[in-house]
Amino acid sequence: MQRRQIVVVGGGLAGTATALGFAEAGFDTLLAAPPAPEDKRSSAILGRSLAFLAELGIIEALQDRQAPLAVMRIVDDTGRLFRAPTVEFRASEIGLTAFGINALNADLAAALGACTGRSDRLEIRELKATDLTLEEDRAVVTLEDGTEIGADLVVAADGRRSPMREAAGIKAREWRYPQTAIVLNFDHTIDHNAVSTEFHTRTGPFTQVPLPGRRSSLVWVEEPKLAELYIDLKPEKLGQTIAEKMHWILGDVTIDGPIARYPLGGAKVERLTDRRLALVGEAGHAFPPIGAQGLNLGLRDAEALIRLVGESRDDPGSRVTMRRYEAARRSDISSRTAGVDMLNRSLLMDFLPVQAARSGGLTAMSLVPPLRQFAMREGLVPGAGLTGLPRSVRKWIGGDHAGRDHVE
Ligand SMILES: Cc1cc2nc3c(=O)[nH]c(=O)nc-3n(C[C@H](O)[C@H](O)[C@H](O)COP(=O)(O)OP(=O)(O)OC[C@H]3O[C@@H](n4cnc5c(N)ncnc54)[C@H](O)[C@@H]3O)c2cc1C
Repeated sequence: MQRRQIVVVGGGLAGTATALGFAEAGFDTLLAAPPAPEDKRSSAILGRSLAFLAELGIIEALQDRQAPLAVMRIVDDTGRLFRAPTVEFRASEIGLTAFGINALNADLAAALGACTGRSDRLEIRELKATDLTLEEDRAVVTLEDGTEIGADLVVAADGRRSPMREAAGIKAREWRYPQTAIVLNFDHTIDHNAVSTEFHTRTGPFTQVPLPGRRSSLVWVEEPKLAELYIDLKPEKLGQTIAEKMHWILGDVTIDGPIARYPLGGAKVERLTDRRLALVGEAGHAFPPIGAQGLNLGLRDAEALIRLVGESRDDPGSRVTMRRYEAARRSDISSRTAGVDMLNRSLLMDFLPVQAARSGGLTAMSLVPPLRQFAMREGLVPGAGLTGLPRSVRKWIGGDHAGRDHVE
């Protein structure tokens, strides 16, 4: 039987970054990554996740295929009785040049591919994992060609249905929302000026995120039947509809490339670890694409796991390390899952007290700068709301403005 210190199952963005991170930290690593269809989405990478990717050389490898995110704006477009004022979160207000970057997932995958190619401790097999056995002193992954690989630690980064999680008998509670996300990219005639605008509508958020040039990506959450009607529109008519829904802030809109649809759902797992097994990315948590949280959370999983395993190098998958990983990630994952769920459901509910609470929260955010600044820091690095942003993050997105620093 072949043997590795770490086997990562799943070559999505979270799995590939995890495998590269382990290899760069000096662990013999194997990544089981069957070919997957090209991902047409884009991802906003923020705060600590950006620092993690930057340390691995991925942000540099992206070159000019990334757009900075300097301002995040929330516009209440629900037309309800209780409406919130527009809230603008400016990176400069907390001493940063940007909150992070936005890039196409295909470009992120290519940049990751360029970096994995340089790492001599990482082997990639383009094969599915078909079985997993967990023992006290090792885990065994079976690949689809019948090869068995023994490992000190297996990382399941095999997505929200996670066959490895299932093989380990870890239960997940899944739920669906009555919503579909329409995902596309578009060109526009007015500069976005590094501003992302999230319109809160009665059917869900409608979010534009800058790409390089006069181009943006869109995640438009709609009722499933309406979503299908919009997707069937002629591209010119759809472009006009999008421009209207955005109140023409970016001028005329031209759809660029294919349109994808994602039925929205969420998942919560009973635990993130087992004997010699750790879940990373959507294998460990899933929720709707609101506020650019999913991949950022997955990258924070990866960063924490690599750090903790690095602190007990003699036995990478020990019980103690698994327990520490579970403890380190629980509250970040639970609070993000609950926060996104609450925001999404509050948009869908017509119940007046819920609308009052939602608009009250946003009003307070718009009127009280310390509250807004707290939310911005907390959004970038969990726990940094009060203490200030760590140097490792400021190093990549820090500006010349005065801001509170935190020495690690
Ligand atoms: C419309 C939309 C927009 C989004 N925008 C953002 C954003 O701006 N910012 C953000 O942070 N997040 C965003 N997200 C969330 C983010 O895209 C996901 O959290 C992230 O892509 C999940 O990555 P992953 O690697 O965990 O899972 P996946 O991308 O699902 O990767 C899992 C991989 O495992 C592989 N696999 C499955 N089974 C096996 C097996 N048996 N053996 C080997 N491999 C296997 C699959 O082929 C796949 O490649 C968005 C999500 C959606 C739907």
